[in-house]
Formats: sequence, structure tokens, C-alpha cells
Amino acid sequence: MSYQHQYVDGTTVHFPLGKVVCIGRNYAEHAKELNNPVPSEPLLFIKPGSCVVPLDGGFAIPEDRGSVHYEAEIAVLIGKPLSKKPDAEEVRDAISGFAPALDLTLRDVQAKLKEKGYPWEIAKSFDGACVLAPFVPGDAIEDLADIGIRLVINGETRQDGNSRDMLNPIVSMIQHMAGHFALQPGDVILTGTPVGVGALSKGDELVLELVGHSSFTSTVL
Ligand code: ZN
Repeated sequence: MSYQHQYVDGTTVHFPLGKVVCIGRNYAEHAKELNNPVPSEPLLFIKPGSCVVPLDGGFAIPEDRGSVHYEAEIAVLIGKPLSKKPDAEEVRDAISGFAPALDLTLRDVQAKLKEKGYPWEIAKSFDGACVLAPFVPGDAIEDLADIGIRLVINGETRQDGNSRDMLNPIVSMIQHMAGHFALQPGDVILTGTPVGVGALSKGDELVLELVGHSSFTSTVL
């Protein structure tokens, strides 16, 4: 399935899909649930554009590599180039959209990699590992420190977080990321997952929302 960034009104975002820059352990309660220490520096990793699939219409998960965990996250669409520690205003101005997303993770595989101190790509960057919903425009949300992210599976609320609980708030996180990796229009930032991660199963019915801004349904195929 090919992927193209979209806005919620159905219009196409005219940036090519780029890379997905992610932060781990950005909510203290989530770090705790996986028995991970809270990092002193932001813990960054990248998913390649090749792993992105649309939420709409359902998505498939690997069936033979152990548990596949959902991580509901606020996704930020980058619309202007950012590099070398941009100032906060420049970052805010470069944000072209917000969407709920799933950072899918092969949790058993990741646990083994972590044990050995190996990189996480095999657990985090497989085909289909980043599920993106359409974006609301960047100016549709004013207060970046009050964005709700909620995931309901088969009628049960599993994750219900808010950006106010992030250890690294959205703008300063992107400033930090851009200091390491040049960000291009079409790149996406995944801002970390709140507490409540768990395994997905075939047939699960999902409701994924940016509370008060956008809401989507999907199915694990
Ligand atoms: Zn994540």
C-alpha cells in the first residue's frame, strides 16, 4: 500500500514522505511500565519512510516475530527545513500538521536487542511499523502543551495521555532533534507514547484520536 501525507479534509499534503524521527521514554509513567530508566538526554531513533502506512482502511502486523505492541503517539508534520538548533519560533512556524499515529514495536525482539545493547531497527522499522492518520493543519492547535492522545481497542480505553506530561515538550524536542538530524518538509516527528502500551491482535478494532481535534477508526487486518 502506498502512502501519501493527507490532511483531514481529504486534501493532499504536497511534501514527499520523508523520515520519521522518534523519541523514546518521553512520558515517565510509560518508562516505568517497561522498567526502563528515564534517560537524562532525549532517547532518539529513526523509522525510515518505507515503514509508513495509512491508518485508514486497516493495517497488517507481523505474525511470526513475537508480540507487536501499539504505542499511540502525537505525530507532528514538518513543513519547513530545520537544522542546527533552530530557535523555538522557527520550530513552531515549521509545523504543518498534527495527527495521531501508532509506533508499532516488536516488543519481544526489542527486549533481546536491548539486552545485547544492539540498535532497535529490526524491532521498530519493519514494513508497516509506523501507522499514520491524516493531519489537522499546524495552526489548528494553539497550545502544544495540551494535546490529548487516546487509543481505544475493542471498546476499552488503553491509552489516554496528554502532551502536558511529556518530559521533553514538543518544541524543545524538535529543536534537539534538528541539532542531530536536518529535518526536511515531509518528515514526521513521533513524540513518544504515554502509559498503557500492549499487544495487538488480528481483528482488533481501534479508535485513535487527537482528543477534540480528530478521531479515526481502524482494524488490525
Ligand atoms: Zn514510541
